[in-house]
Amino acid sequence: MNIAVYPGSFDPITNGHLDIIKRASRVFDKVIVGILVNPDKKGLFSIEERKELIRRVTRDIPNVKVESFTGLLVDFMKERDINVIIKGLRAVSDFEYEFQMALMNKKLNSNIETLFMMTDAKYSFLSSSSVKQVAMFGGCINGLVPDEIVDEVMYKMHK
Ligand code: ADP
Repeated sequence: MNIAVYPGSFDPITNGHLDIIKRASRVFDKVIVGILVNPDKKGLFSIEERKELIRRVTRDIPNVKVESFTGLLVDFMKERDINVIIKGLRAVSDFEYEFQMALMNKKLNSNIETLFMMTDAKYSFLSSSSVKQVAMFGGCINGLVPDEIVDEVMYKMHK
């Protein structure tokens, strides 16, 4: 079975993330969305909440699973016998960091391949942090995150 992991913070999931998940799910037999647990960064949503939001918006895609991991991505992958990492690229500014990470992961485990998917142009400006900024100042986030989670993001930002 061809399995890929799509790692990230997903705090919260955006339409840009969802687009990559959908496209990857057509290429691979199974896609695992891996939420990175960063103990130094609390984030807006807890890991369990992020998981629940991603599950909700991917419930119609049967070959997508959501998990979280601490520590090295390569270790998470090894435990599950996964060799492919999917990454989304928005702009040249993403490239340098992603290039460094891909090479480091390759160094840690030479069986691992990182595959990049170009963002859909309409999401090229979109990031979780920009969504949080817009929401914080009361701007409209419709179309930036999946419709099912718009209210929850606004509520969380203002409670
Ligand atoms: P963000 O930068 O939104 O906080 P993450 O750190 O959770 O996102 O990123 C997870 C992965 O999703 C990374 O590979 C990132 O490049 C990709 N990604 C994030 N936003 C988009 C987008 N709008 N279009 C395509 N890929 C994206």
